[in-house]
Amino acid sequence: MIVETSVPLARYTTLKVGGPAQYLATCENVEDIRAGIALAQEHGIPFAPLGEGSNVLANDAGYTGVVLSMRIPGLEVIEEDEIVLLTAGAGVNWDAFVQEAADRGLWGVENLAGIPGTVGAAPVQNIGAYGMELKDTLVSVEAYDTVTGEVVTFPNEECAFGYRDSRFKRDPRHIITRVTFRLRKQGAPSVAYADLARLAESGTDLSSPEAIGAAVRQVRSRKFPDLSEWGTAGSFFKNPVVSQEVYGRLLEQYPDLPSYPAAGGVKIPLAFVLDRVLGLRGHTEGNVSLFVEQPLVLVARKASAKEIDAFATGIASRVYDATGIRIEREVRDFPLMTEK
Ligand code: NAP
Repeated sequence: MIVETSVPLARYTTLKVGGPAQYLATCENVEDIRAGIALAQEHGIPFAPLGEGSNVLANDAGYTGVVLSMRIPGLEVIEEDEIVLLTAGAGVNWDAFVQEAADRGLWGVENLAGIPGTVGAAPVQNIGAYGMELKDTLVSVEAYDTVTGEVVTFPNEECAFGYRDSRFKRDPRHIITRVTFRLRKQGAPSVAYADLARLAESGTDLSSPEAIGAAVRQVRSRKFPDLSEWGTAGSFFKNPVVSQEVYGRLLEQYPDLPSYPAAGGVKIPLAFVLDRVLGLRGHTEGNVSLFVEQPLVLVARKASAKEIDAFATGIASRVYDATGIRIEREVRDFPLMTEK
């Protein structure tokens, strides 16, 4: 295990903010995780896993603890008649995994192309895009139990998956080490979402997982900022699910408000509220903005975590004042694991 000291978290998060971690332990296998936790115990300090840092807001003060930088590699393949089981290490880049599946002609994760982060972080919030969710193809999650020191396996039905939610998000006890997916040799494009339906209508090739992955990456590259130019964690807030009553009220005022049925009410795109209701597309305060191409995405340049936090809190207040909707952050504080 490689251990570094005083490592700026800004280098390990896509928002490019965060003060120094006291220790950063690179974990390439379960033994490294054990050693990283032992290091924390030896010094009487906490520990916390981190993937590629694409969905976290790290504290300016840094972290007096051991960051377990999850870099477990590897891909195992088991072929069956109609399906293939792929097991990937938690540290594998998610989009590289999607490409690997596409290279093998396998269906099931192609609409999830281009999502930043690692395979190990993907189940934590059950990543989803364009009508496809991780839970649809996930067979099981292998994880290190930080209480017993054992490696355990959770089948899909024990992962408590929900919309951008799972047991791993609610309880940090288990650190994901490997994930197994069940992908299909035959399939058809899933183009229910407008962005992909438009591509299908315009004759874009969507005949294979490879072609769909490429098309999705292209759509995303137009809507999501370039990480080399901006600090960003993608969508900063979740799209809210509101009651029929709230939806009805908004619809009277904004007859073109899009909506989608969801468990517990009606899902509405927050981007519409930010843009059309509040006029906040491209809104900037100091070093932080709502991305002009997609206002759900917060972008920052040389910002502090404090500035980003204050900006996001202000946006949430404006949404509440104008609509009565309390929005939740998708991005999580590191290492507190609390949601706002
Ligand atoms: P979008 O496609 O304009 O969708 C905005 C909202 O409308 C989302 O809540 C989406 O639900 C919903 N929606 C759109 N078409 C729908 C349909 N045909 N049926 C049901 N619901 C529909 O949003 P975007 O910002 O450009 O993002 C594109 C996709 O990437 C979306 O699916 C979004 O959720 C996803 N995304 C995921 C993550 C993540 O997992 N962390 C981050 C960024 C974006 P859904 O959210 O259920 O799709």
